[in-house]
Amino acid sequence: MSTTFTTIAYEEPAPGVARIVLDRPERRNAQSRRMTYELNTAFDRAAQDDAVKVVILAGRGPDFCSGHDLADQTMGETHAVVGTSASFDRPGAEGFMAWEEEVYLNMCWRWRNLPKPTIAAVHGRSIAGALMLIWVCDLVIASAEATFSDITVALGVNGVEYFAHPWELGARKAKELLFTGDAITAAEAQQLGMVNRVVPSRDDLDTEALVLAERIATKPSFALKLAKESVNQALEAQGFWTAMRGAFGLHSLAHSHNRERFDLPIDPSGLVRQRRQRPPTEGPDA
Ligand code: ZN
Repeated sequence: MSTTFTTIAYEEPAPGVARIVLDRPERRNAQSRRMTYELNTAFDRAAQDDAVKVVILAGRGPDFCSGHDLADQTMGETHAVVGTSASFDRPGAEGFMAWEEEVYLNMCWRWRNLPKPTIAAVHGRSIAGALMLIWVCDLVIASAEATFSDITVALGVNGVEYFAHPWELGARKAKELLFTGDAITAAEAQQLGMVNRVVPSRDDLDTEALVLAERIATKPSFALKLAKESVNQALEAQGFWTAMRGAFGLHSLAHSHNRERFDLPIDPSGLVRQRRQRPPTEGPDA
């Protein structure tokens, strides 16, 4: 299967290991519509290739990912390939909700259920939509300088579409992250259980992720899949998917509210508001 990717790279750094790399460093790996579909194709390729046993997700450039690319949502597919959504061109809330359901909620859910272990190797900043790409992975390795934030409340929305915050961070920390928009460090994320391992510097990240992937790749594939599903099903039994669907409904309500008020899916003053509140140690947003 040969596919030419323009927003990601698909690599095979070692036998049994595929590495998918977000590759828009000039845009700090912001997720365009094309990128979500290319990621979906890449995950499919890794899932269907018998030689691949473990998948690493990483980012090229200064940051892992700066979130959704709000300036570039026109490229790529214009119809659903994953879910069974309505046409994205439907007027009112219908088309936009169908599109977000496809490229954010349904795709993330699909990647989360990939029948092979996945490892996110994260450095620099991960903002808003970046969290979804990290959270769908089974394991997370971060370099010490990595930070994680969701600034969407400042934009008039309840949080990113794949609303796993309470499960990843615990209820109280999830609320703090959302209410303040402040970033947590890799060390904090590890303490909360969101990150498995922290490596001292970015230079160690690729090696650490690869060594871990190669170790896991020595195990039987089917047992890995079954172990993964066993843990994932425990989360489903606790209502993980139902809660996320509920939050997605509220997310769609928030976009509709902002459209009524500002004629945009987000509150345009939000980025300015978020910048004004940011502690001086943090850098600019994407
Ligand atoms: Zn949205």
